[in-house]
Amino acid sequence: MPRPREDELVVSGLRLVGVTEGGVETNLRVPELGVMFDIGMCPPKALGFDRLLISHGHADHLGGIHYYLSQRGMRKQKVPTIAAPKALAPQLEQMLELWSAVEGFDYRYDLRPAGPGDRVELGRGLTAIAVPTVHRVPSLAWVIERRVNKLLPAFQGKPNQEIRAAKERGETITESTDVPLLCVSGDTTIDAFLASPLMRQVKVLVHECTSWSDTRGVEDTRAYGHTHVDEIIEHAERFEGEALVLVHRSLRHTKAFAEQVVRERFPASVRDKVFVFGN
Ligand SMILES: [Zn+2]
Ligand SMILES: [Zn+2]
Repeated sequence: MPRPREDELVVSGLRLVGVTEGGVETNLRVPELGVMFDIGMCPPKALGFDRLLISHGHADHLGGIHYYLSQRGMRKQKVPTIAAPKALAPQLEQMLELWSAVEGFDYRYDLRPAGPGDRVELGRGLTAIAVPTVHRVPSLAWVIERRVNKLLPAFQGKPNQEIRAAKERGETITESTDVPLLCVSGDTTIDAFLASPLMRQVKVLVHECTSWSDTRGVEDTRAYGHTHVDEIIEHAERFEGEALVLVHRSLRHTKAFAEQVVRERFPASVRDKVFVFGN
């Protein structure tokens, strides 16, 4: 049976859908948030998303962008918001200008160049935060925060009637806080994870894990700007969130092999929250 292109996983109430093949294609979509990460090629379902966060400019993460913009333009869909590393933005604009000239019509998009620590408002109470990563070209991980209204501590545990009455009197009963929900690492060595408390604290961390065996060892993997499973095993217990989803696996390794590595080699304390994504 042919390997299905797309995979799907539900963790902590978030559905992750898409393709994440190391060096081949990455497009990870989160329908509940209306956000997608990278666009190595442009699977048909990607056209339905109008917020795109780019990690870096390698073709397996960016190659589908002109097709995406061209198709959306022809279909007269909403102008998409695209966040991308600041250092990549001018070249990206030049490339899109050329493609648009080749095609003979304008590409419409709202590009938000971002550097480490920058926040990009995505609407619907969502903010994307750019986190520095370590790769061979300028790169970012993206953290998605969602603004939620919480009852002020003074009202927590109080009867509904009392809370409603206070609201009717015009009192402030809630405060809003930003909850870091999801981080998608893009391509990076493990150094970003080790350096960023935010990456370690998000509920769901989608982290790249390109190498899963000694065929390409830790040093070689690092030299390519990627992460080896041995490094994740070593540091997995530092992850404080609910789900650690490993993506961007090299096609040298099957999903079944990777799942076996998780079962057999990850510390028992974290094994149950580690998931392998990508067929
Ligand atoms: Zn890649
Ligand atoms: Zn890359």
